[in-house]
Amino acid sequence: MADYDVIVIGAGNAALAASVSAREAGAERVVALEKATRGSRGGNTFFSGGLLRFAFSDVEELLEIVPEARDVAGFMDGVEPYPKEAFLADFMRMTEGRTDPELADIVISNSFDVVRWLANHGIKMELALSLSGVKVGNVIKWPKGAIVRAEHEGIGLSAGWFRIAEEHGVEIRYESGATKLLQDGGGRVEGVVVKTPDGLSEITGAAVVLACGGFEANVAWRAQYLGRPWDHAKVRGTLHNQGDGLRMALAIGALPYGQWSGCHATPINAEAPAYGERKMTDKTNRLSYPYGVMINKLGLRFVDEGEDSQFYTYAKFGGIILHQPDSIAYQIFDSKVTHLLEPRYSTTDPVTADTLEDLVAKLDVARPTANETLAAYNAAAGHGDFDPGELDGLCTEGIEPPKSNWAQRLDTPPFVAYGVTGGITFSFGGLKVTERAEVVGTDWKPIPGLYTCGEMVGGLFHTNYPGGTGLVSGAVFGRIAGASAAGAH
Ligand SMILES: Cc1cc2nc3c(=O)[nH]c(=O)nc-3n(C[C@H](O)[C@H](O)[C@H](O)COP(=O)(O)OP(=O)(O)OC[C@H]3O[C@@H](n4cnc5c(N)ncnc54)[C@H](O)[C@@H]3O)c2cc1C
Repeated sequence: MADYDVIVIGAGNAALAASVSAREAGAERVVALEKATRGSRGGNTFFSGGLLRFAFSDVEELLEIVPEARDVAGFMDGVEPYPKEAFLADFMRMTEGRTDPELADIVISNSFDVVRWLANHGIKMELALSLSGVKVGNVIKWPKGAIVRAEHEGIGLSAGWFRIAEEHGVEIRYESGATKLLQDGGGRVEGVVVKTPDGLSEITGAAVVLACGGFEANVAWRAQYLGRPWDHAKVRGTLHNQGDGLRMALAIGALPYGQWSGCHATPINAEAPAYGERKMTDKTNRLSYPYGVMINKLGLRFVDEGEDSQFYTYAKFGGIILHQPDSIAYQIFDSKVTHLLEPRYSTTDPVTADTLEDLVAKLDVARPTANETLAAYNAAAGHGDFDPGELDGLCTEGIEPPKSNWAQRLDTPPFVAYGVTGGITFSFGGLKVTERAEVVGTDWKPIPGLYTCGEMVGGLFHTNYPGGTGLVSGAVFGRIAGASAAGAH
């Protein structure tokens, strides 16, 4: 008899959703193997902002998840439904039509239900006010679908998952990194080799769920699959997601799927450490650029900062910043908008000055060009009314790149600048899965006994990403993988 009914590799959102789901589907002996120590457990999930994008057709549905929201002044007037069609349209738009429609449909169709599942298990939810709500007059305006997060963000979500997993009788083993999948003579996965401080050992199970993240923390794989300069990118989250699960699965013939040259990366504080810090989690993010301009070291603008709400641009702008000279850019704001900057900007002190020329003189940029760029921007901007709560159409006239929304002039001192770089969040390339989260092999047939979820699922994201989808996708496929794996014993 196998040691376990279900072995889950990892202890982030996807892994613990799979573990709990497996128990609820009848698996009696479920173990989650976590490579990290107890003190550094939880993967990227711990570092996350806890934002959860889900479809809802009626605001009353949303209130099932965050009942207190009804009493928040200005909430009911500013919130709009986010039907499944709108979520799908966002998926399609963000991925340039390349998302796998079946996978996207699974995520979208289950998104509300899975967040309710989390909430019903005691993961408290709250409005993501400091992240996405913008107060305009007496109304709080929201980017569609990005409204709710786990209380205490990723830290709360991760702690909640460990509590729920323990309450459900899931055994969690720390410092237990899986290194290899074991198969029987027929090719069925029947266990793993695990490395602990005591050495290598084998653990057998009727099914194995790989939920151990992407390859974002693996410098060699970044160089190999993403190319230069991704090898020198800072990692926003855990240092443990080294592509171990992908390597183990590929070694037994799993089918690579999705965009292996793509990843999620965001503008972060240029001075951020090489890997995520647990006391800082995602506070290094710098996502208020739609209200200002960004210049590189050559003194040039290089993106349309107001192309869309930040939740539709941040995951690709990180990579674009990384590709600027020395992988550095400066976000510049004037005092008309500094009150709109996300609170996490307060974790660093900006460069400040009373004139734009003095500000530029304090930055590590080509001065004449930077002054010309900002003067040209100011001449092109300010032709209309500014509304921070929606795409206001306040666009520049006659400059390249344009700024399509929120293009106010930079004219009110003091001026501030924040240095940013591109930080990698997670890799997009993963494995091909069935609708039951079975891992598909290069013969296009499921590999018996092997399931996956979370960042390891390939095919959902290409080029860009609608903010708040990673955790929901992980919970959806985790829940499916756990139930499917439980059926295998
Ligand atoms: C700073 C930051 C902010 C983010 N904010 C958001 C947000 O607000 N909303 C959103 O939707 N997404 C967000 N994301 C993305 C999201 O957090 C991740 O995509 C998601 O948490 C991934 O879940 P996962 O379970 O697949 O992986 P993880 O949570 O990374 O878990 C992987 C687990 O596997 C373990 N592991 C690795 N290798 C092995 C091995 N060989 N053996 C055993 N265990 C192993 C790791 O230690 C870890 O426990 C953010 C990510 C970061 C880094």
